[in-house]
Amino acid sequence: MGSKLSRKCSVRQRRGGGNPKTGFDDSWYFQTTRNQHDYPSLDGSTEADVCVVGGGYTGLSAAIELANRGFSVALLEGHKIGSGASGRNGGVLGTGQRKDQIELEKWLGIDDARKMWQIACDANQLVRDRISEFNIDCDLTDGELSLAHRERHQHSLWDYATHLEKNYDYTAKRIIDREEAADMLGVDTLYGGYLDSHAGHIHPLNLAIGLARAASNLGADIYEETLATGIQEHREGVTVTTASGNVKSKFLLVACNGYLNGFHKTPDLYQMPINNFILATEPLGEKRGRQINRDNVAVVDTRFVVNYFHNTPDHRLIFGGGENYSPYFPRDIKAFVRKNMLKIYPNLADVKIDYGWGGTLAITMRRMPHFGREGNHVYWAQGYSGHGIAMANMGGKIIAEAIMGQAERFDLFANLTHFPFPGGRWLRWPGLVAGMLYYSMLDRL
Ligand SMILES: Cc1cc2nc3c(=O)[nH]c(=O)nc-3n(C[C@H](O)[C@H](O)[C@H](O)COP(=O)(O)OP(=O)(O)OC[C@H]3O[C@@H](n4cnc5c(N)ncnc54)[C@H](O)[C@@H]3O)c2cc1C
Repeated sequence: MGSKLSRKCSVRQRRGGGNPKTGFDDSWYFQTTRNQHDYPSLDGSTEADVCVVGGGYTGLSAAIELANRGFSVALLEGHKIGSGASGRNGGVLGTGQRKDQIELEKWLGIDDARKMWQIACDANQLVRDRISEFNIDCDLTDGELSLAHRERHQHSLWDYATHLEKNYDYTAKRIIDREEAADMLGVDTLYGGYLDSHAGHIHPLNLAIGLARAASNLGADIYEETLATGIQEHREGVTVTTASGNVKSKFLLVACNGYLNGFHKTPDLYQMPINNFILATEPLGEKRGRQINRDNVAVVDTRFVVNYFHNTPDHRLIFGGGENYSPYFPRDIKAFVRKNMLKIYPNLADVKIDYGWGGTLAITMRRMPHFGREGNHVYWAQGYSGHGIAMANMGGKIIAEAIMGQAERFDLFANLTHFPFPGGRWLRWPGLVAGMLYYSMLDRL
C-alpha cells in the first residue's frame, strides 16, 4: 500500500517545495532575465567579516549594506541567485506590513504599530531607491488594486483605506467601487476596493540579479552552487562548511526563508514552508492586454489563498493563485493555476498558457517577519509570509544595521512574540494544515 502511494506520487508530482533547483527555469522570469551573471562556486577556505547564506533579497540586501560600509562579505547561494522565492514570486511590491495596521495596533499598541508602518513605508522606498541607484532594469510599474471577492469585504477595504488616511496621513489609497473595478479589468467578477499608487509590480528575478550585481560591485564575494551544510560556532565567530570548502567569519546571516530545510534549527522551528503557483499566458497583444487590465496595475483579491496578477511588457497575463502545503509541486501547474484564473477572467478560456511554475515561501504563525539572533554571532531574517519583496529587502538592511551596532529596528522585530510550529517541517502540524485547507475551501464557497 505504502509503496503504491509513493510510486503514484513520483509519477504525478515533483519534489519542488524548498528545492531551489526544481522548476527555476520553468518561469517566464527565467526566460526574460537581463544582465544575468554566473558567479563561481566556493572551492577551498576563505574568510570574511560576515558570511551570508542565501542569495535572495534578504541576503543580497544585507550584502549591499555591509559591503557599502566596508565589511567583507562572503555570500553562499545553494543554486543560482534568485532561485528561491526572490526569483519566482508574483512581483507585487506592496505597501504596509503583511498584517494590517488595525491588527498591529491591537497587538502592539499604537506607538509600535506606527513604527511598523514606517518601516514598511521605508521598505517600499528602499526597493525603489535601489532600483534607481543601481540602475536595475526590472519593469517597475506603479499601482496595486486590492479588490474584494465578496461584497461584504469591499466595505472592510474601504474602511481600511479611511483608517490609514485618518491615522497615518496615508492618502495613496483611492477608493474604487465595483463599477470602476469592472471598467479597469473588463470583467465584473470582483467587487470594489482601493487602488494604492505607492505599490506596484516588478520583474522579481531581474531585481535579484541587479541586487547581486550591485553587491558584487561593492566588493561582496558571491558564490553560487555552494550549499552551506554545517555551522560551527566558536568564541571569535562562526565557520560555515560547504561541500568543497568553508568560510570563517565574525558573523553569520541565515537568509534561507522557505528553502531553509533545517540548516539552522532555531529559525526552522518558527516557520512553515508553503508552495505557491503562478502561470504566464501566451502574449495577448496590446489591445487585449489593455482590455483585461486597463492601467496594467498589480491586482490582488481578498481570498485567503490570494489571487494576484498583472501584465508583462510583452502583454502576457502573469497570474498567481493556488498553493499547497507539502514537499510536492502539482504535476500540471498550468492547469492547477488556470482554474483560478478563469474564475476572475472567464473570457480567457481560449488563451494558451505558456509557462507555469511554483516557489516556496515561509510563513510565521503571526504572519509577521521573524528576525532573531543566537549567541553573539548568528542572525536570521525570515517568515515574510508572502509579503517579502519590500520587507525581505528591509530585513537584510535591518540585520546589517544590527551587525553594525544599531539594533533599534532589529530589536523591534526580535521582541515580537512568535510561536514555534510543532511537528515536522512539511505538514508541520496536521491541525494547522487542516486549518489552511479549511480557509482555502471557504474561498471556493
Ligand atoms: C510563488 C510566490 C509568490 C510570491 N509573491 C509575492 C509578491 O507578489 N509580493 C511579495 O512581496 N512577496 C511575494 N512572495 C514572497 C517573497 O518572494 C519572499 O518573501 C522573498 O523573496 C523572500 O526572500 P529571501 O531572500 O528571504 O528568501 P529566498 O528568495 O527564498 O532565498 C533563499 C535562498 O537561500 C538559498 N539557500 C537555502 N539554503 C541554503 C544553504 N544551506 N546554502 C546556500 N544557500 C541556501 C536558496 O537557494 C534561496 O536562493 C512570493 C513568494 C512565492 C514563492
